[in-house]
Amino acid sequence: MYESIFNRQKQFYQSGKTRTLAFRIEALKQLKRGIQYYESDLLKAMKKDFNKGEAEAYLTEIGYVYNEINYTIKNLENWAETTKVKTPATHTGSISKVYKEPYGVVLIIAPWNYPFNLTIAPLIGAVSAGNTAILKPSEHTPTVAGVISNIIALAFPEKYVASVEGGIETNQSLLSLPFNYIFYTGSSHVGKIVMQSAAKHLTPITLELGGKSPAIVTKNADIKIAAKRIVWGKFLNAGQTCVAPDFVYVDASVKASLIYHMKRYTKKFYNNAFKTGTYMNIVNEQHFERLNDLIQGNVVYGGTARRATLTIEPTIIDDVDFSDDIMQEEIFGPILPVLEFRSLDKALLDVRDLPDPLALYIFTDKKSEAKTVIRSVPFGGGAVNDTVFHLANPHLPFGGRGNSGMGKYHGKYSFDTFTHEKSILHQTTAFDFPFRYPNAKLFNKFIKYLWK
Ligand code: NAD
Repeated sequence: MYESIFNRQKQFYQSGKTRTLAFRIEALKQLKRGIQYYESDLLKAMKKDFNKGEAEAYLTEIGYVYNEINYTIKNLENWAETTKVKTPATHTGSISKVYKEPYGVVLIIAPWNYPFNLTIAPLIGAVSAGNTAILKPSEHTPTVAGVISNIIALAFPEKYVASVEGGIETNQSLLSLPFNYIFYTGSSHVGKIVMQSAAKHLTPITLELGGKSPAIVTKNADIKIAAKRIVWGKFLNAGQTCVAPDFVYVDASVKASLIYHMKRYTKKFYNNAFKTGTYMNIVNEQHFERLNDLIQGNVVYGGTARRATLTIEPTIIDDVDFSDDIMQEEIFGPILPVLEFRSLDKALLDVRDLPDPLALYIFTDKKSEAKTVIRSVPFGGGAVNDTVFHLANPHLPFGGRGNSGMGKYHGKYSFDTFTHEKSILHQTTAFDFPFRYPNAKLFNKFIKYLWK
């Protein structure tokens, strides 16, 4: 079934139409018009699927995507240009160029937590680079998936960009096709399945996965600011954010003060929303039950779970240990465990023992301390004295390493991700230095001189 869409896209790609700069820019404008047309449906769909409020939906999904489209349109000509690079003396007479070439037909598989952003942001990269694309939005946010399909159908013919709805089986049949690039966002578990499928066709991939991202707070931190920014990043989207601080690891000497202020800000930011039923819910029953089971131990804030609406109150748990259940996997919900350390060096060793997280946040006003943490722990990206906000800077590449993924995107990095750099040496025929050919007497001398 999907094979026919794939084949039509392949044919369309081979026609060369998607590759002109004018076509790509018009495609991005078309995409923006389609989103604008369906914007109110999109907002309603996010409300329906998991009670996502308008302000949050605009900030983290729709506005974010408009910004990426505008930024890409503004810079695309520059990014897409063939670039001339240096040519060494051994190649005298020739010039060297890097041509930007799309991969062809690409597959984009998205998760449910930012169901619009995480489907459309990679598409901006794919289209800007001149590819055709099949999108597979998440089945767990079906209303949003439906609106995405409407936007795509309005903006593009199916032979260019198509949105396919469905669950695991749909993914499995899509993954059996010989795509030229696969961009997957979701869990590390499914990331491995995607990688195995891609290996069958040697398809290059980007994997945007998750992990347990720590927020480390040292005794040199501005505690009030740390508390405020940690709870904002954690409880945004009801904690269902890939770069949310998963747990807090704080110096024992400032823990009481940090918890005091985290409770204060959580109450200020989210108490009213939770009370009045406007706080986002958990995406489905299975995740709700999983999270509910993790609410144990010394709960110092929140702890209420409403099964009828699948809502979990922003919750802070103190006195947590690395051996506790909540520390065994990515939480992906509004529960924040707090662990304490007595030595930063030891804390960094503990964090290094975990699989490489997607993000790490270090709160300190001491530059040398921040530098030590950044240098000594492997992680995707992050922030000093902030959480989550780094991903909204299009100049910063966004992606994980190891267990949290491979590859990167956002801004120019999205264009680069979906672009093959084709290297060409343009050689002269005006003369032909003999030294590189067999038995050339000067060859050894020349090369030895140059490459010694
Ligand atoms: P998921 O991996 O369960 O699902 C993502 C997609 O994979 C869905 O489209 C789903 O249909 C498909 N899928 C599920 N099981 C499959 C299978 N057996 N075979 C083939 N396809 C399958 O992820 P999720 O629950 O939707 O998202 C949560 C995870 O995503 C978290 O770990 C989170 O950290 C991560 N995430 C990462 C980023 C990032 O940018 N790095 C962003 C958001 C979420």
